[in-house]
Amino acid sequence: MSVSTELPISETFLSIQGEGVLTGVPSYFIRLSGCNLRCVWCDTPYASWKPEGEKRSIEHLAQTAAASGAGHVVVTGGEPMIFPAVETLCEALSARDLHITIETAGTVFRDVRCDLMSISPKLASSTPREGDQRDPGGSWRRLHEARRIDIGALQALLDRYPSRQLKFVACEVADLAEIEGLLSRLHGWRREEVLLMPEGVTPPSVDQRAWIARACIERGWRYCTRLHIDLFGHTRGT
Ligand code: SF4
Repeated sequence: MSVSTELPISETFLSIQGEGVLTGVPSYFIRLSGCNLRCVWCDTPYASWKPEGEKRSIEHLAQTAAASGAGHVVVTGGEPMIFPAVETLCEALSARDLHITIETAGTVFRDVRCDLMSISPKLASSTPREGDQRDPGGSWRRLHEARRIDIGALQALLDRYPSRQLKFVACEVADLAEIEGLLSRLHGWRREEVLLMPEGVTPPSVDQRAWIARACIERGWRYCTRLHIDLFGHTRGT
């Protein structure tokens, strides 16, 4: 089967990495449109619940990324790993000496060229609620719940990518036990690779930051900010 030379793109933009170990690094973002999950709090519904955008040529995407002047490119979504052609995109970016971060929920393994694999497994609190108007009949609720954790895919990603981070969106204290349970089923990760990030599209409250920081201190994990939310609010293209 031939791999496409195009990818569905909802947006591309130059901004600053707002999350994770590369926070603060100027980066060119390529957001693929389409996702195999439907998080209830998804902050990019235009790439998941209602995927928007158009197909763009991989060569043109790579050229534009290189021309942006940023040395770092973030390939995000949606879920970039569901698209076989993401491998071609990353080859084209790497050929231009760009540092590549892939942001994935970790439900699909793909052997792709990447300098930082940013894995964000989705917890039970991400599952759409019964009666969600975006999901009449609940088919996405069931699919999301069945797909959101794939231990085989997560372990394969950890094994393949020595440069990685495990980033969790924390909604409530109960999430901590689920994260610990998940980590206990995986091996080879280091505590400092585990990042805990407050949920939300507004700056977190002091209380929210405090319990997350305490949880990180107790476990040797890292607190993860959302710098782009602090700087720009919840605005597309930032
Ligand atoms: S995995 Fe990411 S893009 Fe997909 S629904 Fe969840 S938050 Fe949105």
